[in-house]
Amino acid sequence: MDKILHQPLGGNEMPRFGGIATMMRLPHIQTCEEKRALDVGFIGVPLDIGTSLRSGTRFGPREIRAQSVMIRPYNMATGAAPFDSLNVADIGDVPINTFNMLEAVRIIEEFYDNVIEHGIIPLTLGGDHTITLPILRALKKKHGKIGLVHIDAHADVNDHMFGEKIAHGTTFRRAVEEELLDCDRVVQIGLRAQGYTAEDFNWSRKQGFRVVQAEECWHKSLAPLMAEVRAKVDGGPVYLSFDIDGIDPAWAPGTGTPEIGGLTTIQAIEIIRGCQGLDLIGGDLVEVSPPYDTTGNTSLLGANLLYEMLCVLPGVQRR
Ligand code: MN
Ligand code: MN
Repeated sequence: MDKILHQPLGGNEMPRFGGIATMMRLPHIQTCEEKRALDVGFIGVPLDIGTSLRSGTRFGPREIRAQSVMIRPYNMATGAAPFDSLNVADIGDVPINTFNMLEAVRIIEEFYDNVIEHGIIPLTLGGDHTITLPILRALKKKHGKIGLVHIDAHADVNDHMFGEKIAHGTTFRRAVEEELLDCDRVVQIGLRAQGYTAEDFNWSRKQGFRVVQAEECWHKSLAPLMAEVRAKVDGGPVYLSFDIDGIDPAWAPGTGTPEIGGLTTIQAIEIIRGCQGLDLIGGDLVEVSPPYDTTGNTSLLGANLLYEMLCVLPGVQRR
């Protein structure tokens, strides 16, 4: 039997503003049998009870899907043709418990255990950054310690927030403590603004992370940086976690904890394209908050960055 290759619904088959919203107008796959045929699954995690300032990321997955309708299959810059070789679908949202964070995190991990069991590479539509912890927990069980490319205005290495160990600003501290990460293969890009102490970003450096503060990125192409990043994180499985607040609020205002002086959309594309060739085992795009996104541009950016992630996964053909 020929390999199944789902295709995004074209704009001449159903108007782009019509039909049920799925990521890139791909089929919504739910049965075990259909999941087993997939290589890659887009998954929504509508969680926002881990946010510390402005909420609203619970609406992120839905709006990213809505803004993904114009994305066409072929990447005209890189030649990537993801749907020519990978079977990709939208496998829906994780049914989180929105009243109970620990229970929500447990449900997310269990959902991703199942995704990984089916051999699916997860590309996740967030949701606040808390969701990356249970995703990494699930991935670690299959892949062992994971390398990480983390784009963010914040390091997300707080010991606690309001006494809580699980929140969107503690994700990578927990990931280190739980030995989910291969700390010598971790890079954080875009960190900036103010800390509680002058040493805040040095906790990451002490773990072995390469920390690229935003100022190091200002006014330049990040293609040379990405050569360094690839050398640092290569040699094992790598996860890509993209907090949309890594981008400047001029382009990505629809987020909960905006910080000025951020990356450009062009630099964001350079970072993701610069991950080509790595053994990527999954990625997420988190912290899009549609209520603060009056133009829809933040969700549009998020949708396109997820497409760029798809284009650099192992096994994607290029033309
Ligand atoms: Mn974050
Ligand atoms: Mn952030």
